Parts: sequence; structure tokens; C-alpha cells
Amino acid sequence: MSDSLFSDASKRLQAALKYVSISDDAIEHLKYPKSSLSVSIPVRMDDGSLKVFQGYRVRYDDTRGPAKGGVRYHPNVSLDEVQSLAFWMTFKCAALNLPFGGGKGGITVDPKALSKLELERLSRGYIDAIADFIGPDVDILAPDVYTNAMIMGWMMDQYSIIRRQISPAVVTGKPITMGGSLGRDGATATGAFFVIESIMPKFEQVPQETTVAIQGFGNAGAVLAELLAKAGYKVVAISDSQGGIYAKNGLDIPSIRHYKAAGNGVKAVYCRNSVCNIVEHEVITNQELLALDVDILIPAALENQITEENVNTINAKYIFEAANGPVTSAADRVLEAKGIYVFPDILVNAGGVTVSYFEWVQNRSGLYWTLEEVNQRLKQKIVEESNRIWSISQELAVPMRTAAYIHALNRLGEALNAKGTRDYYINSRVS
Ligand code: GLU
Repeated sequence: MSDSLFSDASKRLQAALKYVSISDDAIEHLKYPKSSLSVSIPVRMDDGSLKVFQGYRVRYDDTRGPAKGGVRYHPNVSLDEVQSLAFWMTFKCAALNLPFGGGKGGITVDPKALSKLELERLSRGYIDAIADFIGPDVDILAPDVYTNAMIMGWMMDQYSIIRRQISPAVVTGKPITMGGSLGRDGATATGAFFVIESIMPKFEQVPQETTVAIQGFGNAGAVLAELLAKAGYKVVAISDSQGGIYAKNGLDIPSIRHYKAAGNGVKAVYCRNSVCNIVEHEVITNQELLALDVDILIPAALENQITEENVNTINAKYIFEAANGPVTSAADRVLEAKGIYVFPDILVNAGGVTVSYFEWVQNRSGLYWTLEEVNQRLKQKIVEESNRIWSISQELAVPMRTAAYIHALNRLGEALNAKGTRDYYINSRVS
């Protein structure tokens, strides 16, 4: 699998290994996904024809608990990508000390080309195909790129039909009326916001003097833009897959969200509608956005956005990865040499899976929490782990990404050792 996204993802493991004392058995174990399932999903299209879609579910590791991770609908979904995403979930859950392993799923599809009914048949068909591979104590699904609460609701319903029992805890990120948690919708952004707020004071960087550019205006990027703008940060640029907009004095984020929700891309927002003249703006490309001279750059779209090809154009001081895997390992090395701080995905975007954990707990206990309770628990957890990772990075003089992997590896290593390793069998006797 050379040169694949997965082999690049595993390089992060190598970088952290020399700082942890974990057994060779544990390391060997963590190099490979535990199991990978590929399925073909036949779907009856609205015109009566039959189309077969490719789907995947990967359980990377379940040493610390059932596998956990989202399901992505995107034309570029492949087994390689899903394995990488499942790998990241394993380390994300361990870094946050959630009692989960890592999993991920995906379907190779352009969801925007399907009708709502076709999307429903596809989602239910996916669950029919993987039902024996998942479960509330085995592998728990959630939203990811281009999937949402509505789709999670169909998935949970289909699983419940197959099992002949209501099984809310098999899927998180569901509609509230089907057992979803308050706060799950905005959790990725809220978690990223708490991380940024806990890190910036360490650099004596105050919101009012901090400029921000955000690549991606989906669930993570758009909500985070609004939270940051509300807290006083100057969000000067945003983009979606169609391109971006820049305004040096800051953008009016609530209006943009409003018009984007009405079906317009962000580039169109300032030209087609009434906000056109509220602020001066420039239309920019995604590459131009990444190269802006801002304090904080937030990639909040897809993986492989900052690579060897464009890393030398990056001018930001701090990068917070709201997307999974937006910076390649080769680009990481250049950023480090340039003195640019990268705050890694497995910490920054972990708010989503943390509130997914809260949703799973609520489903299993039957007791539901208020939004304040959810957000307060999220803040406590993510800030605590962020501070621990920060301390590791200071003590060992390593980048935050390496520190996050060290932190996660220590927990994973401990759990793997507890199950029995070579040393354990050689050195201990059962008395
Ligand atoms: N898809 C999100 C992620 O990559 C959330 C996963 C979850 O909630 O299980 O972290």
C-alpha cells in the first residue's frame, strides 16, 4: 500500500514511537486495520433502473472499546481512504480517553446527484449490507462528510428493523426525536472552538487581534466561523468547494450562513443577494485562501489540502485542523521547519466524536442531558486533553501532532498490554 493515504497516515505513528515505551506486540498490532468490509449496494433509482454502489466499513482497532466513527458519502471514497480515517479515529478516541476504538465507513457516491428517496434507499441498503458487522457494542456509526442527522436516522431505523428491536446506540448524530443528543450537530466546531480558546492565550494572542481563514463551509467550518466571529476573532476568509471570499476587515458570517443555507455557494453570497455591499470583498480560490497572511488557518474540508506542492505558500502562524488529515506528513515537516504550529485533527476535531460518546451514553442510560450539560462536559474533556497534549509537546519539545500521538499511544499501549503481550507471558506467572 505504498504512497497511499493510509501509509502516509501511519507515518504519524512512527514519529511518536520513539517517545513511548510500548511493547513491540502493541506496535505490530496497531500497524494494521483489524477488519475491513467492502460491499456492493444495489439501489433502485427513481427512473426504475438499478445501480450498484460500493460501500466500506473498516474496524481499525477495538482494544479500548467498540469501534467508533462516521460514514462518508463522497465520489472519492475508497478503501484506502476509509482505512486512514478509521486509523485516525482510533487515535482520536484514545487521545480524548473515550472508551472506543476506531472505525469508519463510506460510500463512493456523489450524494448531490441523488434524489432524497434514492439517498434513503442507498443508506438503508448500506445498513442491510453491513448489519452483521456493526452494533452498539461492536461498531457505532456517525455522520461525516456529506452525511447528516437525517441519514443517521434512516440508518438507525434500518438497523432496528433488521434486529427487531429499537437500537438507538448503534448510530450517533441522529435526529433528536430518535434519541440524538442536543449539541451533537455543532459539536465538531464547538470542540475546535474550545481548543482554539485554550491554546491562543499560551501565545498571548487575543481574539480581537487575530485574523482567521477557514477552508470549507460545511458543518465544521460554518459553525466554527460563527463561534469565532461571535468571540471577536476576525474571520477574513472562507471558502467552499466552489471557491472563496476574502474581506480584510472581516466577513459577516451569519448572513453568509443564511444565504449558503438557501442554496448558494459562498462565492455567490456577496454578489447575488442583499449583503452584496455590506463589506468589501474579493473572490479568491481555495489555494489563495490557504496562502493568506493570517494568524489562524483552519482547513475544515477534506484530507491532503496542504501538501509538498503548496506548503511553501503557507503564511499563517497557527493551523488548526478541523478536517481529518488536511496536512500530509511531508508538508508537516516543512511547516515545522518554518515555525508554523499545527494543531492536529485528532485533537481539534474530536468534539464530534466526544459528543457522539455522550449520545451513546444517553441512549444506553435513557436519561437525556440539557445542551448546557453537553457543552460543559465537552469543554471540560477537550480542554483537559488539549492541556495534557500541550504539556507533552513542551516537555519533549515535539510538535503538537507528535504529542497527541504519544498521548494516545500510551493509552492504547496500556490497554493492549493488559490483554497480554510477549513480555507478559514470559515474565509473569499466574499464581
Ligand atoms: N466523523 C466525525 C469524525 O471524523 C465524527 C465521528 C463520530 O462521531 O463517531 O470525528
